[in-house]
Amino acid sequence: MKLCFATNNLHKLKEIQALLGNQFELVTLSDIGCDADIPEPFETIAENSAAKARYVWENYGVNCFADDTGLEVNALNGEPGVYSARYAGPQRNSDDNIALLLEKLVNEDNRAARFLTVITLVIDGVYQQFEGTVAGEIINEKRGSNGFGYDPVFVPDGYSRTFAEITLEEKSQLSHRARAFARLVDFLRHS
Ligand code: IMP
Repeated sequence: MKLCFATNNLHKLKEIQALLGNQFELVTLSDIGCDADIPEPFETIAENSAAKARYVWENYGVNCFADDTGLEVNALNGEPGVYSARYAGPQRNSDDNIALLLEKLVNEDNRAARFLTVITLVIDGVYQQFEGTVAGEIINEKRGSNGFGYDPVFVPDGYSRTFAEITLEEKSQLSHRARAFARLVDFLRHS
């Protein structure tokens, strides 16, 4: 079955294709002729994930799945959440985003946070969501140079190193995204 992964990131696509085997032929947004910047107008990650999948299904009639991720910090009532990529502004700069986050958490003792990924799958108009989370805490300063986004300030529960100090292999074992995709792959392989 042909299935669009609502991304143009070929690296992500190859990773998921390898997990799925040849029962599914994954294609990108550009493969189906979609070059739109798909709107993500909602206040929750689940709704924005669904909006992306719905956009593809309703405009292109192609079965697909879309992922959306954010960092939710308890003391900030779930911020930055859907604004994670553009927290400090439209330049979408990770250093700026981290600086703003640390500034907002100055003098805050409650450092609890989680990453949340929601994947929305639509097959023949039937929608289904798969969630992955990883809980942890935000430290006071950046540590490590691996990864991306908020990785240098996020220490997952049970670890003393940040996501930017562990290897990609380790992160792939426990990340929010890995957990959500494992659920999607499990579902698709058994369908
Ligand atoms: P996206 O939905 O995967 O594009 O993620 C949105 C934003 O969340 C990214 O631009 C990052 O700022 C942040 N983010 C997502 N996943 C991670 C992660 O694994 N580590 C750190 N930051 C992340």
